[in-house]
Amino acid sequence: MNTFTFHNPTRLHFGEGQLLQLTAEAQKYGKHVLLIYGGGSIKRSGLYDSVRELLQRAGCEVTELGGVEPNPRVTTVNKGAQLCREHRIDWVLAVGGGSTLDCGKAIAAGAHYNGDFWDVVTNKVPVHSALPLGTVLTLAATGSEMNANSVITNEQTKEKLGWSSPHVYPAFSILDPVFTVTTPKEHTVYGIADIMSHVFEQYFHQDSNTPVQDGFCESILRAVIATAPLLLNDLTNVGHRETILYCGTMALNNVLSMGITGDWANHGMEHVLSAVYDIPHGGGLAILFPNWMHYVMEDNIPRFRQFAVQVFGIEAEGRSDLEIAEAGIAALREFWTSIGAPSKLAAYGIDDQQLEAMAKQAAGRSPIGNFRKLGQSDVLAIYKMSL
Ligand code: NAP
Ligand code: FE
Repeated sequence: MNTFTFHNPTRLHFGEGQLLQLTAEAQKYGKHVLLIYGGGSIKRSGLYDSVRELLQRAGCEVTELGGVEPNPRVTTVNKGAQLCREHRIDWVLAVGGGSTLDCGKAIAAGAHYNGDFWDVVTNKVPVHSALPLGTVLTLAATGSEMNANSVITNEQTKEKLGWSSPHVYPAFSILDPVFTVTTPKEHTVYGIADIMSHVFEQYFHQDSNTPVQDGFCESILRAVIATAPLLLNDLTNVGHRETILYCGTMALNNVLSMGITGDWANHGMEHVLSAVYDIPHGGGLAILFPNWMHYVMEDNIPRFRQFAVQVFGIEAEGRSDLEIAEAGIAALREFWTSIGAPSKLAAYGIDDQQLEAMAKQAAGRSPIGNFRKLGQSDVLAIYKMSL
């Protein structure tokens, strides 16, 4: 186990009925709020009206920015940051999926930077402060509701990059599973693939003496695997939605990273895919991850054996460790296919034309990943395995 310092300041309001906490929260951060949301799902579900009413009860004056894109764009961030400065906004409320929350983090920080926010995403300008951010989450997937990360796309340069700052942890996040029931099947599946991938990024490491961390990861994975098929057959089941929602938060709120060095190569490879082809993040991860597993498993067969046995219950008797490890990876692919996740880039019409350029973008400047450091040729090989 590595040494670590853990600090997560987000106040989490979780469960049915917790939306009502919004009024008391809103009273803490000032009168003028910028309400941001995506393409309209919150209007169709009625959540928008409830949020407006609860903000009104708090005495808030609301400025709005709707239309945040899936894979949110830096142009939208710049627009939101300018609105904050023009309207003397006190705090930002992001209502929606991970894209809206990530955009909210960037706007909250961008409000204090009078320039192109891409400078921050590319680490040219540090974040010294941000407006307070509150969130109401509608899609179980990213963990953005309780972490300091944000992923922003530059549509001009076709880059999609993650950035992070302790100043953009949400001050509070409200997670009511009732507001996730309208998530369509497709995005529910992508969310599940993203949640599992976040766990994998932190489970496949080379650190030793991590039995508790391993157990946390395995427990989340087993819960997702058991619940996903039930939920996909019954999309409005609040209990199943609640389980997946809780898994999503726990998968990426830094608890699983305590004492370990995560990998994150798959997220790096996927961000390039989404940047170039604008595909859903969870779909890209579902395609790549099992191929990465095959590519690197020889570096730590015991870990892949443990994954197979503890997560998928693979029968170990009479099999070599390598065979068990391979059976675990095959079980993951089979599981993802069974819930409707894609397994090939061809599912998005992606051929081999951009693979070399994408591999260069992902790992050309420096290697990615920690389980095994991957250079450009490794990334290209994994992209080719995924065609
Ligand atoms: P999303 O892009 O926020 O949303 C996907 C779609 O689902 C949108 O069209 C959205 O519609 C719809 N939707 C959301 N909630 C809904 C609901 N309750 N009912 C009906 N439709 C709903 O999806 P996401 O997977 O949460 O976020 C993906 C982004 O997060 C990617 O850019 C990814 O790279 C990033 N990411 C961030 C982190 C992090 O730690 N910050 C981690 C992993 C990934 P509307 O727009 O109409 O609402
Ligand atoms: Fe992710």
